[in-house]
Amino acid sequence: MKILLLGGTGEARSLARTLVAAGFEVVSSLAGRTTDARLPVGEVRQGGFGGAEGLADWLRDNSVDAVVDATHPFAATMTEHAVAAAGGLDIPLLVLRRPGWTPVPGDNWHWADTATAAAKMLPTLGTRAFLTTGRQGLNAFADAGLWMLARCVDAPNPRPTWCTLILDRGPYDVSGELALMRQHQIDVLVTKNSGGSMTAAKLEAARRLHLPVVLIERPPLPAGVTTAQTTTDVLTWLKTHQDPR
Ligand code: NAP
Repeated sequence: MKILLLGGTGEARSLARTLVAAGFEVVSSLAGRTTDARLPVGEVRQGGFGGAEGLADWLRDNSVDAVVDATHPFAATMTEHAVAAAGGLDIPLLVLRRPGWTPVPGDNWHWADTATAAAKMLPTLGTRAFLTTGRQGLNAFADAGLWMLARCVDAPNPRPTWCTLILDRGPYDVSGELALMRQHQIDVLVTKNSGGSMTAAKLEAARRLHLPVVLIERPPLPAGVTTAQTTTDVLTWLKTHQDPR
C-alpha cells in the first residue's frame, strides 16, 4: 500500500518511522521552506505540488493508495488541497490532528480568532510581549504598540525592525522558557493553539510566572473530513483501507 504522508511536523516524522517499520510504502512530503529541515525516514519529496490540481496529478502519477495529512493544525491550505485532490480521485484521506491545548484552573488565557485580533488585545494585557506564532503572520503584530520579542525557526524576510528577533527551534523546556521570559521581562505570551508537547513548555512557564496568554484559535477543518489523534488510530484506519490494487 502506497501512502502519501503530508508532513512538516514532529508527529509526521514519528508516523513515517512507524509506517515504514510496519512495511507500508511511504512518501513523506515537505513544503521545503525550512532551512535544514529534520527529515523523516523513508522516501521524501520536497516543495509544493502546485495547488489541489497539482496534488491530484501527483497522486495519480504516483499510484497513491491513501493520503495521511499530518501537517501542522495551522497549515489549512495544504489540508484543503488534500481534501479536494483525494476526494476528486476517490483516494482515502485521513487527517492526523493532535489535540489543542486547554487551560488549567488559574490560567489567564485569552482566545483570538486571528493574529490581527491577537495583536489588538495585546496593549490591554501587557507591555512586553513574547510572540511565538512563527514568521508567517508576524507582520500582524507590527503596529501592536508594545515592546515585542519574536521567536522563529527561520528569519522572516525582510527582517522585522519593530521587534527583537531570536531564531530557535523546539523542543523547548520549562527552565529555558522561564529564563528567557525573565531575561526579557515578558509580561504577556502569544501563541497559536498548536497543541502537542514540543512547544508546550512556554505555557507552563507563563503559568508559573502568572502571565496572561493570548491563544490564536485553529482554522476549522473542512467539513466531513476523517480525523485521527494518534499513530495507533492511523494504523487502524490504514488497515481498513488495505485493499490490494
Ligand atoms: P499552508 O499554508 O497550508 O500551505 C501553503 C502551500 O505550501 C500549500 O498550498 C502547498 O503548496 C505547500 N505545502 C504546505 N505543506 C506542504 C507539504 N507538507 N508538502 C508539500 N507542499 C506543502 O502551509 P504552511 O502553514 O505554510 O505550512 C507549511 C509546512 O510547514 C506544512 O507542511 C506544515 O506542516 C509545516 N508547519 C507549519 C506551521 C504553521 O504554523 N503553519 C508550523 C509548523 C510546521 P502547493 O499549493 O504548491 O502544493
